[in-house]
Amino acid sequence: MTARPLEGRVALVTGGTRGIGLACAARLAEQGAAVVVSGRDTTRLESAVKELEALGGEVLGVAADVAKREAADRLTERTRERFGRIDVLVNNAGITRDGLLLRMKDDDWDQVLDVNLRGAFLMTRAAAKTMARQKSGRIINITSTAGAMGSAGQVNYSAAKAGLIGLTKAAARELAHWSILVNAVAPGLIQTDMAAAIPQAAREALLGQVPLGRIGTARDVAEMVGFLAGDGAAYITGQVFHVNGGLYM
Ligand code: NDP
Repeated sequence: MTARPLEGRVALVTGGTRGIGLACAARLAEQGAAVVVSGRDTTRLESAVKELEALGGEVLGVAADVAKREAADRLTERTRERFGRIDVLVNNAGITRDGLLLRMKDDDWDQVLDVNLRGAFLMTRAAAKTMARQKSGRIINITSTAGAMGSAGQVNYSAAKAGLIGLTKAAARELAHWSILVNAVAPGLIQTDMAAAIPQAAREALLGQVPLGRIGTARDVAEMVGFLAGDGAAYITGQVFHVNGGLYM
């Protein structure tokens, strides 16, 4: 295997401006892919693009809110215009709006479902059209332990992430016809801005249930994404890969 096995391929990472998404974009860039990253905050987007460019490959940043159809379509369109193809889509953009079920606001439910689930649907539909023409592609959905085991205080997020697992499996069955492989990666507790927002006592209680005894890094997740994007994963589709230090088995 060459040192840059994804040379000539194009990867699009939603929410690639920080945390897990940025680590995934960096891993794919190290493997030789041209990368496109998106996010809503343009300042963060610019600094992510600079950080990724320093790895030596081609990088494009596009400000886009994945929950909006026009923005999702524009993001895939810009990628095609600039690079001519889309080989890898990482549906990573995600948000939390935590609260107990009995007090959860309609808006907290809607926003979380819109970004985490509708956004992944919109991006998958848009990118899969290009991938079908190519007769190849990899779609990697970043779900969560919460989607597999449920998380108290996160009915919205758990539902969205469980929905994403269903989307992954159904899309894997439909898109196999064009050799498009669809898989999910389910991180446990990972050190990012999102995890920093969890109250300390809750974070420590969760950490106490991790057999490996440490919080995960964004890089731990990116390693799995890098593998699923590569030729070594050619016979894997419709699967969920847990990267959680043993939190959920
Ligand atoms: P962060 O909050 O650190 O980063 C989220 C990224 O998503 C940012 O780049 C953000 O950019 C972008 N984003 C948020 N909303 C939108 C939107 N509507 N459209 C486009 N981009 C958006 O999160 P993490 O890195 O921690 O999480 C990444 C993924 O991993 C998420 O799907 C999350 O659910 C999942 N995950 C995280 C875990 C953890 O412990 N950290 C555990 C399990 C899963 P901007 O704000 O500029 O739009």
